Amino acid sequence: MRYICCFLQAIASGRGQFTNFKNLNFIEFGLDQRLVEGIESSGYETATPIQEQVIPLILSGKDLIASAQTGTGKTAAFLLPIINRLMTTRTEEHINALIVVPTRELAIQISEHIDGFTYFTPLSSIAVYGGSDGFSFSNEKQALSRGADIVVCTPGRMIAHLNMGYVKLDGLQFLILDEADRMLDMGFYEDIMKIISFLPAQRQNLMFSATMPPKIRILAKKILHDPAEINIALSKPPDKIIQEVFIVYESQKLPVVKWILRKHNFQTVLIFGSKKQSVKDLTRELKRSNFSVREIHSDLEQQEREQVLLDFKNRKINILVATDILSRGIDIDNIDLVINFDVPHDGEDYVHRIGRTARAENEGMAFTLVSEKEQGKLASIEELLGKPVPKGKVPPELGAVPAYQPKRKNNNGKRRFSHPNHHSGR
Ligand code: AMP
Repeated sequence: MRYICCFLQAIASGRGQFTNFKNLNFIEFGLDQRLVEGIESSGYETATPIQEQVIPLILSGKDLIASAQTGTGKTAAFLLPIINRLMTTRTEEHINALIVVPTRELAIQISEHIDGFTYFTPLSSIAVYGGSDGFSFSNEKQALSRGADIVVCTPGRMIAHLNMGYVKLDGLQFLILDEADRMLDMGFYEDIMKIISFLPAQRQNLMFSATMPPKIRILAKKILHDPAEINIALSKPPDKIIQEVFIVYESQKLPVVKWILRKHNFQTVLIFGSKKQSVKDLTRELKRSNFSVREIHSDLEQQEREQVLLDFKNRKINILVATDILSRGIDIDNIDLVINFDVPHDGEDYVHRIGRTARAENEGMAFTLVSEKEQGKLASIEELLGKPVPKGKVPPELGAVPAYQPKRKNNNGKRRFSHPNHHSGR
């Protein structure tokens, strides 16, 4: 009940902030000392609002549906109580918790978090994801047949293993679906249901989703038993992100990007393109102009993607050009600037993309290039944000720019806004 009250207060406050957020230390949740050591060495001092809400709920054994985006601390919110519970309840040489996620990158990232948190505990884990070589497959096979306390997987790869019959799931205690909305968007519904058909009926189920469209509610009804519901979706980016848009003609985008990069000379810049081809073209052009730049998209082999990400994280390259593959769930700190080379499809994607900058205590900037065709999309995003995004000035030597005159979408002169979280007033 306390959680429901908090939720209502958060909505009432209209700020998406939990008014009675207590800044709890992790020890106050009654977590095992070895786990607390892992948390501390991961650099966490106090719990985020979602962690404060979710950790006690999961510890109490309840099923849960949580509307929470990346950036809220949702990963630790489910990992910490699961790890804590498993330290006393795990069955050795079995799979005790299964975390299903949409992408390999997210699987790897969650797995890294688990490694940090469990460092001082006896728990084991493995990430199981597609697209790697035969060697990884046999490694995964070995771990899955011998048992690993926590398995993080992408749906397709897990099914490939499940079909072979050696996966030890009879002792499973936890099922977690992370970024459930994204998994449904990617067509994984059948795969998820198939995975569930292999699991024991008696288990605790946790579902996390950035948005709550009706299909997520239907999935939740099928999978969860009397779940608690938490809503910490941030439909607006943090105020500390300095946002600017540049209203341009399509042909001006490349010169404007180069001008921005030269003017600011930032160490880490993430540029998003909606299409693979535009990502490839832009990277080629920037290379030609001697920028330190690489690209990442689904045409790259898994190993190449990991290497590019690593080089970017380690500052071996300054600029990464990416498709939306990186807009959600990927954890790269200290990005100084996000550039949207084109306008994301909707406000939610915009918030996800620009949320890659200004993480944790850092500040950041987010610039968006808007062609004439994209002005309507920008207007929708501004509606989601509840205010116009400041318009940046393009230097005169790059030519005259179009006026910002977005077309209205419906006939009563008002733009309709259908964001699933808009009722929360955030
Ligand atoms: P997430 O929403 O799980 O993707 O987490 C977003 C970022 O916040 C990640 O870089 C986490 O490592 C970090 N984070 C999560 N919880 C905390 C915490 N309690 N204190 C500091 N950083 C945190």
